Amino acid sequence: MRDDAPNSWESRADAFSLYGFTDLPSVHRRGAVVLTHGTGPYVYDVHGRAYLDANSGLWNMVAGFDHPGLIEAAKAQYDRFPGYHAFFGRMSDQTVMLSEKLVEVSPFDRGRVFYTNSGSEANDTMVKILWFLGAAEGHPERRKIITRVNSYHGVTAVSASMTGKPYNSLFGLPLPGFIHVGCPHYWRFGQEGESEAAFTQRLARELEATIIKEGPETIAGFFAEPVMGAGGVIPPSEGYFQAIQPVLKRYGIPLIADEVICGFGRTGNTWGCQTYDFVPDAIISSKNITAGFFPMGAVILGAELSDRVQAAAEAVEEFPHGFTASGHPVGCAIALKAIDVVMNEGLAENVKRLTPKFEAGLAHLAEHPNIGEWRGKGLMGALEAVKDKATKTPFPGDLSVSERIANTCTDHGLICRPLGQSIVLCPPFIMTEAQMDEMFDKLGAALKQVFAEVA
Ligand code: PMP
Repeated sequence: MRDDAPNSWESRADAFSLYGFTDLPSVHRRGAVVLTHGTGPYVYDVHGRAYLDANSGLWNMVAGFDHPGLIEAAKAQYDRFPGYHAFFGRMSDQTVMLSEKLVEVSPFDRGRVFYTNSGSEANDTMVKILWFLGAAEGHPERRKIITRVNSYHGVTAVSASMTGKPYNSLFGLPLPGFIHVGCPHYWRFGQEGESEAAFTQRLARELEATIIKEGPETIAGFFAEPVMGAGGVIPPSEGYFQAIQPVLKRYGIPLIADEVICGFGRTGNTWGCQTYDFVPDAIISSKNITAGFFPMGAVILGAELSDRVQAAAEAVEEFPHGFTASGHPVGCAIALKAIDVVMNEGLAENVKRLTPKFEAGLAHLAEHPNIGEWRGKGLMGALEAVKDKATKTPFPGDLSVSERIANTCTDHGLICRPLGQSIVLCPPFIMTEAQMDEMFDKLGAALKQVFAEVA
């Protein structure tokens, strides 16, 4: 609870922060949680309280908060070469090694990598690559971008336009030419009597109808998260990617997998597209790429797009795009270590090993009459609160049920995230079985307490 003294951490955070993505009435009442450090999956606040972070920070701290190998890799690179750019044909050796590695671990035979500082910028960059290609290939009208309702692709003007969330209207977004098609959440959007397979086919038909209505020649690309993350952890409906990819192929529209959350192990394989058995034309990566130890995003182009973009750039002798910190040597050194840690030091295995226990824990909590659905893949999952399970009726918004559950969890030393009417869990890959028990025990107690108050 907040300390109201004028010089308290809470008062100072309030006085000087423009809080982003924060429920303001709640933070004013409770005070910001100001953190000092972390160990394993736990973080500690300025009052010395410990929290089990069931969200891996913001989905990204998959190796926990004090992984010695990652800290060592960062320190060693700071000692060796603490910063450089990737402009004018210069770049660090770490940058070259990471690009090689990313293509090696990608689902592509060949490819090229472009670095950014964030997932938003990586999506922006991908859109600019598609626009650059359209202009270079004599199709300047090929600019429209299709994404899905409830998707999350970032916060810059372009990536927010891609994001299918209503709050973007507060910014007058989306920009023209950003189109949103249906969300593949069968439990919520499937119609009465419609099978999951029929629901998927309906979405594929809707996508094709949208392409035809907009004009196939005007569409530059389609972006999708393999599992929608900030939409509330929504795995695709059965056969979704197998149904939509042929539609996109028919019109020559690239499929871009936004793997910012799913990439590097979250769904049980290196990439979410592997979990759902499709090969996209390019991959957007961020977050786990450095296990959250450095801000970094990457666009990984598959062979065909890579060749086309390279040819387009050769024709004008330059691809005029880049960020000062693109391919930062410390970020690249950390990413090389993070990939090694996740893929070769048992973390990816741990995701696989823990998934059945994680799913069983979610399923157990979903027996509560006020949980409508549990869903998840690998170590990302969600429980959706409902007022009435049979009719799937949500609680009235002004009850802020998911915020209350998350706040109650925080009071009991567990960090989890409210998203819409869902509670999202996305534990770090280093979590132990005992820590997972602690997570479900605390969440279960919070659910009981809040549902007793509101139901
Ligand atoms: N894409 C997806 C799928 C994401 O989940 C996020 C961030 N949650 C982003 C893009 C944006 O990444 P960033 O916050 O690093 O800009």
